[in-house]
Amino acid sequence: MQQSASHRGNSPDLDVAIIGAGFAGLYALHKMRNELGLLAEGFDDAAGVGGTWYWNRYPGCRTDTQASVYSYSFDREMIDTWQWSERYPPQPEVLAYLNAVADKHDLKRSIHFETRIEKLTWDEASSLWRLSTNRGESLSARFVIEAVGLLSSTNIPDFPGADRFGGALVHAARWPQDPIDFENKRIAVIGTGSTGIQLVSALAPKAGHLFVCQRTPQYVVPARNGPIPEKIRQWMSTSYDSFHKWVMDSATVFGVDESQTPAMSLVEDDRNLVYERAWDEGGGFAFMLGTFGDLTVSAEANKTATDFIRSKIMETVDDSQVARKLCPTDYYAKRPLCADGYYEAFNQPNVTLVDLNEDPLIEMTPTGLRTANCEIALDVIILATGFDAFTGNYLKIETVGRNGERLQDKWADGPRAFMGVATAGFPNLFTVFGPFSPFTSQPLVDEYQVDWIAGLIRHAMAQGLNEVEVERAAEDGWIETCETIAEQTLFAVTNSWINGANVPGKARRTMIYMGGMASYAGIIEEVARGGYLSFRLA
Ligand SMILES: Cc1cc2nc3c(=O)[nH]c(=O)nc-3n(C[C@H](O)[C@H](O)[C@H](O)COP(=O)(O)OP(=O)(O)OC[C@H]3O[C@@H](n4cnc5c(N)ncnc54)[C@H](O)[C@@H]3O)c2cc1C
Repeated sequence: MQQSASHRGNSPDLDVAIIGAGFAGLYALHKMRNELGLLAEGFDDAAGVGGTWYWNRYPGCRTDTQASVYSYSFDREMIDTWQWSERYPPQPEVLAYLNAVADKHDLKRSIHFETRIEKLTWDEASSLWRLSTNRGESLSARFVIEAVGLLSSTNIPDFPGADRFGGALVHAARWPQDPIDFENKRIAVIGTGSTGIQLVSALAPKAGHLFVCQRTPQYVVPARNGPIPEKIRQWMSTSYDSFHKWVMDSATVFGVDESQTPAMSLVEDDRNLVYERAWDEGGGFAFMLGTFGDLTVSAEANKTATDFIRSKIMETVDDSQVARKLCPTDYYAKRPLCADGYYEAFNQPNVTLVDLNEDPLIEMTPTGLRTANCEIALDVIILATGFDAFTGNYLKIETVGRNGERLQDKWADGPRAFMGVATAGFPNLFTVFGPFSPFTSQPLVDEYQVDWIAGLIRHAMAQGLNEVEVERAAEDGWIETCETIAEQTLFAVTNSWINGANVPGKARRTMIYMGGMASYAGIIEEVARGGYLSFRLA
């Protein structure tokens, strides 16, 4: 531990306890400690800062959001001086960036690493949270900010025989610190989401043999990675404020020129020219959001995009049977994927697609995998099986709120929360990018929400308030708004982690606000301007 919370008589040990030291937690600590001057400390079960970028060290791991928006806005000096080598930077570079931010703002001394918060209990009498750690420590805090990550709690399906496999078995998001030697090894990647496709592109050139175990084929657009476009670089260096405003005024904060044009307003040839241009320029979000404005709301428009991507898959992959298996049939309405060289990898003799729908996985054996039709000998099995998104890490903390209400019970049929930042019955507890946040790129919205939470904490302290708690009616209303909007989109009817469909037994629910960042900001700012009207202040 860098610094222990000192016991301060009748005062809480901390003004603010921050759980998580990724993009959100680091900024929250900077805001609370360095800007608001509060006694704030962070906790993370990792041995260093970085969150996502600390845990995910697998080959090929990189952002799918452009670095120009995948970095903080609060430190202008760093915007001018930090040189991103690529527009989709690799994991070591993002981790180095977060370490540099933490060092520059002297954050590490206030973070308890390798410390897991296991329990949070609301103490009615003192209006404080009691925190318990895996190290047997307990402490109190007036406010708790949970920055525990949207895609952080690993989803590991129950594979029979997993304990018998004699080779290396790793989950991509719990990657060992020491590198694994892949040269000429027989490797299986289980899962073809964003992580799986990055792994396949990176490992295909070096594996002895790579088996790609696919349950759900994906629409993958080339990334065309390279330097940040000069136009964006110039804009950021000459007028960062206007660049930032352009990004935050968009619906999704992905730094993409979001199209308003309906796909069916063009004839087929012209429409395909638009897709062709986007395919050549690269980027998943640019393809989904920058081509036409209605791909995720109109089934007819969506089909024009899926037809185009399927035609590219058929054109790229030499073996037409393999190509057909790689072609998805559902809507293009998940978080869009991008990678360079993914489909091309299947033309290599050392890459085999294992279609788990045709040939289900039966078990892991001491020497590899057994499917219904074959035995595969392996040195390494990589689980790219994704995350228990949105709720996973919150529910791992036993959280007992007002009147003994448990978060685990409250969220048993899916999360209930207000605008991604608070949940009724749990006073003085805030979440960053929690359930029902807007569907956006994360770091700039993490900053935005932390600033908003800081405003409420500042207000509470200035007014001498001990408790702030969102009202249940406001929470119900917000969830209804999110559901109504989501139902108008194809995301609602497409299986993905966005609605919980990737985790067996998880309640399938809308967990996100699809109304766009600009509209979200308008609503949450109105809440603040009205004196935090949706909150009970005591
Ligand atoms: C491989 C990968 C690539 C991604 N690429 C992008 C991208 O390009 N664009 C984008 O917008 N998003 C991307 N994401 C989402 C990414 O998670 C966010 O962009 C961002 O890094 C989240 O930051 P965070 O601080 O909210 O959470 P995280 O980075 O997940 O950090 C949360 C931290 O809290 C810790 N923690 C959780 N519970 C506890 C507890 N009880 N006690 C102590 N510590 C705890 C976790 O261990 C973790 O270290 C990606 C995710 C992954 C997995």
